[in-house]
Amino acid sequence: MSLHALTIHELRRKLHTGEVSARQVTQSVLDRIAAVDSKVKGYLWLNAADALAQADAIDRSGAARNGKALAGVPVAIKDVINVAGQPCTCASKILQGYVSPYDAFVTKRLREAGAVLLGRTNMDEFAMGSSTENSSWGTTRNPWDLERIPGGSSGGSAAVVAADEAIAALGSDTGGSIRQPASLCGCVGLKPTYGLVSRFGLVAFASSLDQIGPFTKDVTDAAILLNVIAGHDAQDSTSVPRAVPDYTAVLGKDIKGLRIGLPKEYFIPGMDREVEACVRAAVAALAKRGAEIVEVSLPHTEYAVAVYYLIATAEASANLARFDGVRYGLRVRGEDVIDTYGKTRGQGFGPEVKRRIMLGTYALSAGYYDAYYVRAQKVRTLIRRDFEAAFKKCDVIATPTSPEVAFKAGEKSGDPLKMYLSDIFTISCNLAGNCGISVPCGFVRGLPVGLQILGDAFAEEKVLQVARAYEQVTNWYKERPRI
Ligand code: GLN
Repeated sequence: MSLHALTIHELRRKLHTGEVSARQVTQSVLDRIAAVDSKVKGYLWLNAADALAQADAIDRSGAARNGKALAGVPVAIKDVINVAGQPCTCASKILQGYVSPYDAFVTKRLREAGAVLLGRTNMDEFAMGSSTENSSWGTTRNPWDLERIPGGSSGGSAAVVAADEAIAALGSDTGGSIRQPASLCGCVGLKPTYGLVSRFGLVAFASSLDQIGPFTKDVTDAAILLNVIAGHDAQDSTSVPRAVPDYTAVLGKDIKGLRIGLPKEYFIPGMDREVEACVRAAVAALAKRGAEIVEVSLPHTEYAVAVYYLIATAEASANLARFDGVRYGLRVRGEDVIDTYGKTRGQGFGPEVKRRIMLGTYALSAGYYDAYYVRAQKVRTLIRRDFEAAFKKCDVIATPTSPEVAFKAGEKSGDPLKMYLSDIFTISCNLAGNCGISVPCGFVRGLPVGLQILGDAFAEEKVLQVARAYEQVTNWYKERPRI
């Protein structure tokens, strides 16, 4: 098998014994990118010479032989996470030409672990979207069917991992942007608990919801990457100071007696029946492994999309105020400073970002603040309490990640509300601040389906344990698109 098709743990064995070098692995991935990325369009930026130079430095340092967790492993990074010396555009014209002067916390951790930082992956502009169609630089394609979208907003990261154009990738998840594209592309995507992974150096979309997490080819790799990126960081005031366990230690542990909750609100009319069948079959497979299946209720689920689109847009309207033509990226000169702000933002932001800024500004404005923003925060608390009650009855919750498989490019881009509904099963987890993973659980009409396993705050070990147990009885995660 070619090196680019291997997982982190498979490569690690070869790298640690010196059977292969970081340069060979990196070259193999670069060759793969050269062969398929003109079709997938997952990368926005790549510097092959720089990637090889990083690999050579790792080879020279002997990092692999010294057992560094990611020594010589090429990793792709979503264009919203800062990597010093690389562009960071958030797929927006307003940041065209902007080069990061510093590393995000997670980037620093990756470097210290010996990863090769390959390049920047495509996304919806400022992570707003579910298809990558909101990118200012063109849409990424789903490697399983190039006429379809890879999901979003971290669609580029999901697509390059699924197409073996990176061994793993990082993305960000504010309302589902890791799990939904992982589901649609047939890879593993993990959203950590809010506060587990530092947001320092992640360009903010909705600060109370954003988390960085891994895209990988299997659950073991997700645990390996989480080990590297999790942990307290004083530069992020919401980073939680608590000891981080070795997330690989739980893999392979028996799930006998573990209770898996099925929320009745997540199996709804209107969802794809075949997707539902895949998820139910996955739950049955877990029951066969000895898990106990219990029904739970998350009664405020129906308000989640509305609450999310008030809170996320409110926070976005404040966060995006910094893009004013003075401090970063694009500047369109006007007659005076106000005119310059207006022209820069008018030309720099795409239509979805403008829509969100307007919605958020409205929700925060005097007279509407209590009716919309404050009320949304109250319902958010109710959603969080739903999970608290549910997790008294079960250890993890199983649901579909997305109500449908990948849709065709253009199918929903004219209807924002339809697009917003793509996240119906992923959003509540962010509102509650919990963790969740999506793992491949079958195919419908040749397209991947994802099983979502949700855990309580800081219950990543349970989520990974159940996800790995599922992998042990199925081979869906080993399927690769033929492109
Ligand atoms: N699709 C959702 C949105 O458009 C979630 C995006 C995300 O998680 N970054 O806001």
